[in-house]
Amino acid sequence: MTSEKAKEERTHSLPERSDIPEKYTWRLEDLFETAKDWEKALKTVESTGEDLASRKGSLKASAEGLLEGLSLADTLEKLMERVFVYAHMLSHQDTRNQKAQSMAARAVSLAVKTGELTSFIIPEIIEAGRERIESFITERKDLEIYRFLLEDIFRQSAHRLSAEEETLLSGAGEIAHAPENIYSMLTNADMSFPEVEDGKGHLHPLTQELYGTYIISPDRTLRKNSFKVLHGVFGSYKNTLSGTLNATLRSSAYFARSRKYSSTLEAALAPDNIPPEVYHGLIETVEKHLYLLHRYTSIKKRALDLESIHMHDMYFPLAPEPKPCISYEDACQMVAESLKPLGDEYVSLLMEGFESRWIDVLENRGKRGGAYSWGSYGIHPYVLLNYNGTFRDVFTIAHEMGHALHKAFTDKKQPFVYSGHSIFTAEVASTTNEIILHEALQEQATSREEKLYFANALLEQIRTTFFRQTLFAEFELTVHNMIAEGEAPTAETFCSLWRSLNEKYYGPELEIDNELEYEWARIPHFYSPFYVYQYATGYAAATALSRNIREGGTQEVKRYLEFLESGKSDYPVILLRRAGVDMTSSEPVKEVAALFEKTLENLEGILRESTES
Ligand SMILES: [Zn+2]
Repeated sequence: MTSEKAKEERTHSLPERSDIPEKYTWRLEDLFETAKDWEKALKTVESTGEDLASRKGSLKASAEGLLEGLSLADTLEKLMERVFVYAHMLSHQDTRNQKAQSMAARAVSLAVKTGELTSFIIPEIIEAGRERIESFITERKDLEIYRFLLEDIFRQSAHRLSAEEETLLSGAGEIAHAPENIYSMLTNADMSFPEVEDGKGHLHPLTQELYGTYIISPDRTLRKNSFKVLHGVFGSYKNTLSGTLNATLRSSAYFARSRKYSSTLEAALAPDNIPPEVYHGLIETVEKHLYLLHRYTSIKKRALDLESIHMHDMYFPLAPEPKPCISYEDACQMVAESLKPLGDEYVSLLMEGFESRWIDVLENRGKRGGAYSWGSYGIHPYVLLNYNGTFRDVFTIAHEMGHALHKAFTDKKQPFVYSGHSIFTAEVASTTNEIILHEALQEQATSREEKLYFANALLEQIRTTFFRQTLFAEFELTVHNMIAEGEAPTAETFCSLWRSLNEKYYGPELEIDNELEYEWARIPHFYSPFYVYQYATGYAAATALSRNIREGGTQEVKRYLEFLESGKSDYPVILLRRAGVDMTSSEPVKEVAALFEKTLENLEGILRESTES
């Protein structure tokens, strides 16, 4: 059966939303009781926006004006968020619902308008000047909660230009999105892939989405063919894709220079105030531990009994997923049980989430795929799942509830203005939960199959989230540096750099196919400069925190919960330091290496046992 057909049949076997028992659906009424209330809120957003716009000039005039302006902006954004989140979650329940689609579209355009209306605030604060704003804070104590926000505006103000120059830059900013748009059009809309043959000679359609399932298939021929064909097609566009990547490298260098940053890296790290040594330190420390990735490659080669190991073998799991049908209730129990080290407060909030319909659990016809956590300030968080009863789904619950509880703890403690999370810390709480669950399940595993499955799953997670993303980060740093030094990298430059990085990371046992050289052309994140390293640093922070929690006492747990409560009230590196992890040191990265090594030894033990028996 072709997978398109399989997908179609699967869709037909799915229940309609109305047939899903209520307890497995989220309570959107907690956001808005009725659609009418949503419409009313939409009107309030519009009138509040007009009210705020009429205060232009008053924020810099007096302490009272500043306080009123900032709190009105909070009120506006808070309600806007609720309008936006509700409409989108409603449409995700069943994407065929036209009314929900149009509500979501209206929310998007209102959000754009709201963004435009509030855009005068920062320039006006900068215009008032640091001293005057400081005197306002002294005068009106209620302004104290905005201190960090205001200080951060002045920290970055050295890189703001005159109003006229800012207008020119924002116009150029729209044009600068062109390479990314072209890349996305070419690779998502225009590019097509020929069918690929499996080991039995059957043909399968290939898309980028299907590639993800073929590359973990036990059928080696299918893995090999889909890897070669997919990357081969990208390779046939290598000059165009090197052109779009070059354009992005050059435009980000231009913007960094215009804003008087010393490099693109410095400009990319500035909004979260991340010291560049965090980036360089990650690459340097990972480099010192690459022997572990080499060892993994070689163990995998032996375990799979291969004459030579290729990249398309690296993704293949050493054991199939055991017990494929875990009830949702059991899954929640497993997650809650494993997270007990986080303390009663955490676990009881987790249970509240399970029991109070925060979660949309099951698949239904038209429901959006995947999983996420989302929500609106002041209301409990929400989680969307497509639960199917696999171990992978249990990990997804732990992950998404990690996000949800991070939000719940933050909302409880922080005012709206600091209720978000920076991208640098965003994946820390979710990954911490996953690692804790992992260690618990690994310890409980009894059969060889289970032990092998868990060891392999953790090693693959570390390989793809930590080592692979650091390889990406090193590639980015090298090519951005080339631009800064006036070089003009070509497709050949990118290909040979990609090959040499893979040689360095995976070691002498990996047999490099020529098609691997084109993989750089397939990575959309390279169009957001210096983004991917945060997957690796987030993983490192989570590894260190989960060990602190498991091995530490109440003090460690308390510091972790304080981190969850801290939201965006300070810079990520500072918040993590308070939680007990210093991201400017090499320690967190070394912790991942230690966890990887421990799991490798574990894997070797399981493999030895099975050859002996
Ligand atoms: Zn996540």
